[in-house]
Amino acid sequence: MRRALRSSLLPVINATGVILHTNLGRAPLSPAAVRAAEEAARGYSNLEFDLGTGERGSRFAHLEALLVRLTGAEAAMTVNNNAAALFLVLSALCAGREVVISRGQAVEIGGGFRIPDVMRQSGATLVEVGTTNRTYLRDYAEATTEATAAYLRVHASNFRVVGFTASVEVRDLARLARERGVLALDDLGSGALLDTTQFGLAAEPRVQDSIAAGADLVLFSGDKLLGGPQAGIVAGRRELVDRLRRHPLSRALRLDKVTIAALNATLLHYVRGDATSEIPVWRMIATPATDIERRAEALVASVGAGEVVPGRSMVGGGSLPEESLPTTLVALRAPAVDPMRAAAALRGRSRPVVGRVERDALVLDLRTVDPADDAEVGAAVREVLEAGTEAPSTRITGG
Ligand SMILES: *Cc1c(COP(=O)(O)O)cnc(C)c1O
Repeated sequence: MRRALRSSLLPVINATGVILHTNLGRAPLSPAAVRAAEEAARGYSNLEFDLGTGERGSRFAHLEALLVRLTGAEAAMTVNNNAAALFLVLSALCAGREVVISRGQAVEIGGGFRIPDVMRQSGATLVEVGTTNRTYLRDYAEATTEATAAYLRVHASNFRVVGFTASVEVRDLARLARERGVLALDDLGSGALLDTTQFGLAAEPRVQDSIAAGADLVLFSGDKLLGGPQAGIVAGRRELVDRLRRHPLSRALRLDKVTIAALNATLLHYVRGDATSEIPVWRMIATPATDIERRAEALVASVGAGEVVPGRSMVGGGSLPEESLPTTLVALRAPAVDPMRAAAALRGRSRPVVGRVERDALVLDLRTVDPADDAEVGAAVREVLEAGTEAPSTRITGG
């Protein structure tokens, strides 16, 4: 009965050190975003009601002014996720025509989301140019015909091509697009608004830079580096955004009020300038390695087992592949602990704790754990150790 009455969707403590963990729900929301979502869910709101005139309003208006202000775009609209945003843009603006894309960018993002498949579904025809590792501006120019609707750039979110490579900057692509009378579309994926280099990471392209470089439309997710709820955002030229809004698909892909409320509160952090302290994703990225070291040492001391070892945290969520942040891991090693069994026991709790198994150790990275949950992680590890998770080869059996 307990199992039947329990939700299968459970809150989990993420001790993997992967900040945007797609399997664990990507970005956690800020306290203000949670409050806003709760208020929108609990009662009525002016979702589509103009409080000034007492007449019908637009649900898009709540987010658009903030997005325009933060990105420098003329207009913006929001849908369910970035996959939906790309599908809408291709369907509304490119169906029946050609979209030119670098061969190295006709990629799979994950979860079966493949650019060529989305393109086919939208009714646009994919024209691949260049090679897997090198594409030049002249490749786009030579592929442009009467039938060309757009050049699409897709950010290599979850992989890197290194070595003998060449790709075209948004600025150059946008200039060529203007000359040839086609659209420059930039699918940024994670869509950072802040500069990642200030935290010792590589530069993740920022939305406002792409707009400033002349992209007609920039597409990005709400729950990657923006640090908000699942959403897809399209920012860019007013006339194009209006066409997206009028397309029948936009009704099918529209955001619900709870998400609008949470996204609104998330964007306000950027306006106020408190994103790095309030938005969990940025707070985790910004946490100094020494803070995590201190918490890891306290955890080991409180458990009376395990050891602290240097390690790396990942940003994850299809952003900054190959990039990592220095951290301190709590490691529980064989033979004292069977890492697979200990990991399973931690996952089996009513509030599961998810760590990583690396070689002969279960490792926990507190970078992705809310400091308020450190004590619970300690209690979970103690429970697991007391229940006995020694490696089977070393367990004494029999008399
Ligand atoms: C993640 C990603 C998407 C899909 O975004 P969702 O919000 O998960 O639908 C699309 N394009 C790129 C480049 C991405 O990184």
